[in-house]
Amino acid sequence: MVTMAKAFLLDLSLEELAAELRAWGEPAYRARQVWEWVWRHLCLDFGAMTNLSLPLREALAERFRLALPPVLAREQDEEGTEKVLLGLEDGTSVEAVLIPEEDRRTVCISTQVGCPVGCAFCATGQMGFVRNLTAGEIAAQVLHFARILREKGERVSHVVVMGMGEPLLNHEATLKALRNLNDPRGFALGARRITLSTVGVVPGILRLAQEGRQFNLAISLHAPDEKLRRKLVPMSARWPLSEVLRAADAYALATGRRVTYEYVLLSGVNDGLVHARALAKLLRGRLAHVNLIPFNPAPGLPFERPSAGQIELFRRELLAQGIDVTVRRSRGIRIQAACGQLRSRHLHGVPRA
Ligand code: SAH
Ligand code: SF4
Repeated sequence: MVTMAKAFLLDLSLEELAAELRAWGEPAYRARQVWEWVWRHLCLDFGAMTNLSLPLREALAERFRLALPPVLAREQDEEGTEKVLLGLEDGTSVEAVLIPEEDRRTVCISTQVGCPVGCAFCATGQMGFVRNLTAGEIAAQVLHFARILREKGERVSHVVVMGMGEPLLNHEATLKALRNLNDPRGFALGARRITLSTVGVVPGILRLAQEGRQFNLAISLHAPDEKLRRKLVPMSARWPLSEVLRAADAYALATGRRVTYEYVLLSGVNDGLVHARALAKLLRGRLAHVNLIPFNPAPGLPFERPSAGQIELFRRELLAQGIDVTVRRSRGIRIQAACGQLRSRHLHGVPRA
C-alpha cells in the first residue's frame, strides 16, 4: 500500500489548517485551538493537545508531522551566540543562529539551501544553489530557538532573515513563514521586530511594499557603483542600482520605515574614502541608514577584513557627509557565524580553525 507522505503542519497558514479541519467536519474554532498549541505554546506533540478529542488528535498525527528538524551540529561562543545546523527531510541542511544581546534574543534564519546569487565574499554564495526552503522549514528555525529559550523563561524578541539564501528569490515561502510568525493569534512576533535582508531583488521589494506590514527592510548594497557591485554580487546585473534604490524608496514610502543599507567592508576593494563619498552621494536625501559589516573571513574567500582604523575612517566619512551609520559588531566570529560556514565545514569535514 502506498502511504501518502505526511504534510508538515508548520507549512500551513491558519486559514489552510481551518479548511483542512472543516473538511473533516470539525467546528471552526478547532483550527484556532491547534494553532495556539503549536504557535503559542510551542507544543510539538498532538497527543498533548488535551482540549482536542482523542480521535482528532490521532487524525492530526496521521495527516501531519510536527517534529522540528534535528540538530546535526552545534557551536556556541563565550558570549552565548549559538549556531545550529538543522537536518531537513531530504538530507540537506541549513543554519540558524541565536544572538543574545542584553534584552534582545535575535534569531537569524535561512530561506534557501545554498544561494543562487553567488556573492564573492559569502560562504553560502560559494556553495551554489540547492533548493528553496518551505515556509515550515523557515519558521521551524525560529521555533527551535523559541523552545530552548522558553526553558529559561525567555522569548525570541527579534528575527532577522540574514542566514543562508536570498529571501526574495523564495518570496512565497519566506513571506508565509513571516506572516505565520507575525500572527497575533499564535507566535505574535511584531512586524517591526522582523528584518528581511535582500541583495536587491527589485520585483520582490515592490511586492513586499504591498504586503501592508511594517517589516524592516535591509538592502545589501556593498558597492556605490554598478561595476564594482557586479563584481561582488554577480546576479546584481539583473537589478540596476538606480532601480534597487527606487524600489527601496517605494518601500519606505509604503511602510514609513527607514531602509537599512548593508555594506560589507572588504579591505582594498570597497573600503576607500572615495567609496564612502560615492555611497553618501547615492543615499543623500533618502530615508536611509547604513550598516557597515566588516568582512567575516572564511576558508576559501579571497578577501580581508579592513583594519579597525580603516573601518573608523569609512564610518566618519559617511557621518561627515550626513549619512546615518552604524558598524555591526561581528558576533560569533570565533564560531564563524557568517552564514554558510558551519554547513560547509560539516559537509567537507574541515576542522575548526
Ligand atoms: N541574501 C540576503 C540575506 C542573507 S546574507 C542578502 O544578501 O542580503 C545577510 C548579510 O550577510 C548580507 O548583507 C551579506 O552581504 C552578509 N555577508 C555574507 N557573507 C559575509 C561575510 N563573509 N562577511 C560579512 N558579511 C557577510
Ligand atoms: Fe546569497 Fe546573500 Fe550570500 Fe549573496 S550574501 S550569496 S545574496 S546569501
